[in-house]
Order: sequence, then structure tokens, then C-alpha cells
Amino acid sequence: MTYQCIKCKTTWVNGGESDLYSHGLCKDCARILLIPTIRRKQLREGNFDCFGKASSYCDQRLCKYKLVCLNNS
Ligand SMILES: [Zn+2]
Repeated sequence: MTYQCIKCKTTWVNGGESDLYSHGLCKDCARILLIPTIRRKQLREGNFDCFGKASSYCDQRLCKYKLVCLNNS
């Protein structure tokens, strides 16, 4: 199934990815939109609110948002 981003009109084929991307937005737009939400969650969970700040390296090995955070492709 092919989807189109409601924001930047990028199209992609659904490959069973995370729920984070199933709201009509592509990875990049979803990520940008999620930054404030995820940072709030990080603080609530006792972590640094570092989501989206690292570019390629992250030392927060236990952070569950790490994969999304570092996915800059
Ligand atoms: Zn987009």
C-alpha cells in the first residue's frame, strides 16, 4: 500500500513500520511534529529531553526513542 505525506507530499510504501508513522505523515515530518511530544515523555520518564538533538551518535542506550531520533535519512 502506498501512502502520501499530507505535509510534504512525499510518497512511500508501507513496510510495517512503527505506529509513529501511520498518521499520514512521512518519517521526517512525523519526527519533526513529534519532537515536543517525545521530549515531554522523555522528561516524564526521567531522561534528558534530547530527542532530535543528536545527529548520528547518542549515548542514551536505554532510550526507547533512540532509533527514531537518530534516523535522519
Ligand atoms: Zn512529509
